[in-house]
Amino acid sequence: MKKIVKEQPPTWFETWKQNFKQTHGRTAHYKNDFSSDDSQGTARRQQLRGHLIKEQGHICCYCMKRISLQNSHIEHFRPKTRFPQNDLDYQNLLASCNRDGMVSLDGHCGHKKEDWWEDNLVSPTESKIEEMFQYSLDGNIHSIQKKPFTNIAQEMIGHMGLDSYHLIRNRRAAIESSEVFDENEYSNEDIRNFIDFYSNKDGEAYVPYCMAIVACLKEQLG
Ligand SMILES: [Zn+2]
Repeated sequence: MKKIVKEQPPTWFETWKQNFKQTHGRTAHYKNDFSSDDSQGTARRQQLRGHLIKEQGHICCYCMKRISLQNSHIEHFRPKTRFPQNDLDYQNLLASCNRDGMVSLDGHCGHKKEDWWEDNLVSPTESKIEEMFQYSLDGNIHSIQKKPFTNIAQEMIGHMGLDSYHLIRNRRAAIESSEVFDENEYSNEDIRNFIDFYSNKDGEAYVPYCMAIVACLKEQLG
């Protein structure tokens, strides 16, 4: 996973929540209020999703797949069924792959995770998220062993389907098309420059599966 740097909530989003409270005399909730079943609810969801996608550099919060308005949904890191008080807390809202209503046999990410929750679950907004997973050249993902977070990392792989066939295949393709498999002999300085490139946004976007490529490049440092 790639750490997500949350920005300030969009002004229109905070204003909408304040106006809702003034009008209705209660705090707004995601379902039925913000995400109401009409064109206004659809427009609000789309506007928020666009903001989250841009904030995340156009990759899924969990698997790093390229996402757009067409293939993403708003993900509540703390599930809205368990934490209704956080269901419009901007810090809890992420963009994940797979649009609402799309069912996949090879499910992963937000729709696979659903209402699963553990108190020691690590959010993609925490720095240590980038130290929890190892990726191999064949696209597989593993928890890093003998760390305080090894067990929860392993559970996250299972509950979020991060080891699904689809994702392993995509990561392998991304790694194979990077400098990892180049025939050139690169110096450590070259490799560090590649790591720097994949660790940062190129314009607005990260390269899909960037941290899997970074992990394999780090293995090549002499
Ligand atoms: Zn995903």
